[in-house]
Amino acid sequence: MGNLSVSAAQAIVLQHAASLGVERVKLEASLGRVLAEDVCANRDQPPYDVSAMDGFALRSADLLSPPTPLTVVEDIKAGDKPTQTVRAGQCARIMTGAPVPPGADAVIRVEDTQELPDGRVEILRSVVSGNDIRRRGEGMRDGQVVLTAGSEITPGVIGVLATVKAAQVAVYRRPRVAILSTGNELEGLDEPIDPDKIPNSNSYALMAQVQALGIEPVLLGIARDDAQELAGFLERGLEFDVLLVSGGSSVGVHDYVRPTLEALGVSMHFWRVEMRPGHPVAFGTTGTTGTTDKKLVFGLPGNPVSSMVCFEQFVLPVLRRMTGSVRLFRCTLKAKLAHPVRIRPGRTEFVRVVLSRDDADNVMATSTGTQSSGALISMAQADGLLVVPATSSGIAAGEWATVQLLDSTTYQNEPGFEESL
Ligand code: AMP
Ligand code: MG
Repeated sequence: MGNLSVSAAQAIVLQHAASLGVERVKLEASLGRVLAEDVCANRDQPPYDVSAMDGFALRSADLLSPPTPLTVVEDIKAGDKPTQTVRAGQCARIMTGAPVPPGADAVIRVEDTQELPDGRVEILRSVVSGNDIRRRGEGMRDGQVVLTAGSEITPGVIGVLATVKAAQVAVYRRPRVAILSTGNELEGLDEPIDPDKIPNSNSYALMAQVQALGIEPVLLGIARDDAQELAGFLERGLEFDVLLVSGGSSVGVHDYVRPTLEALGVSMHFWRVEMRPGHPVAFGTTGTTGTTDKKLVFGLPGNPVSSMVCFEQFVLPVLRRMTGSVRLFRCTLKAKLAHPVRIRPGRTEFVRVVLSRDDADNVMATSTGTQSSGALISMAQADGLLVVPATSSGIAAGEWATVQLLDSTTYQNEPGFEESL
């Protein structure tokens, strides 16, 4: 296997990811899911011409030389049916959303009118025909496709679904995800503190990364660096659609993950990527893409930041594709560097940064501090990952660079960064 860039590795993982079939859920439980079918309007909205204002429905031709006194023939509230035709010299008091009565061709808002002592109303200015009328079908037309398959269900989409009375919604099934940490040195969250051990943070950071995508993962716990014990855990993990294994994927003599996966019938597609942090990241599969026997396994590096950065680059787009999303990648933006960044060329580097704005309203990127792959606090503080191309040895202060946003809920179609200059 030659040197693999991040984008080449992303292309490989995405070749093996497909949506997992369709289920129906209640509208109330559909937020964050992805629509699996087109949705059509089942009536015109609004169902008739309605007033856009509280005011008076009238004939625009009556207002040629304002002010114009008119006789009020009726009061029409939202939900009422008009009973009178508005004739010359007449108007109807009308509320927002109420049907425009026959004869009227415009609405004038109440602020442009004045009640007269004799019960008539004086219209203070003229309006064009159609003023402040929302036409029948302006919002949606009966039969029109209002939402397409692949749309993510946001609050606005929920509103549209409720408008077409979709009490049940067809969405893509979510993948079942398992998380396993490996390492003799690891101490579980419930175990007492042992000063010689390393707390297992990866299981929980990965759990949260998965949860942030709307998927509830299963934590399998900690496997010791023992081929037999590991095999048992991995076998259990391979019952899930996606298995995330933290640690044990490099080439140390006690790094059993890769050989054990292979012994269990997993084909490994890569085991390192030219990136920093995160070089020793592995990916394998069993089964046929698009069938339920397809399983994806990621061997993520044990170093806490590497594990999270690899999740961002490879696991996130895969999980989004499996949940039916079309936009697979985190949003990127251009930011101006607040200080120089120097790196060793050769690998695409992801630098943890916070974003702010300078006096000229430019987005500025500032490193969150030490960039060691174990420095989890600098990951916790980061708004994004600044991408330094593998062919660069650094970026000068004041230069613009691409930042991949973390924790955004908006996604884009392409990775959005360059790996070579
Ligand atoms: P490995 O990839 O297994 O060689 O692990 C690299 C380093 O990451 C180890 O020295 C551990 O200290 C650390 N590490 C491994 N797994 C975890 C974990 N689950 N939580 C926190 N740190 C870990
Ligand atoms: Mg280890």
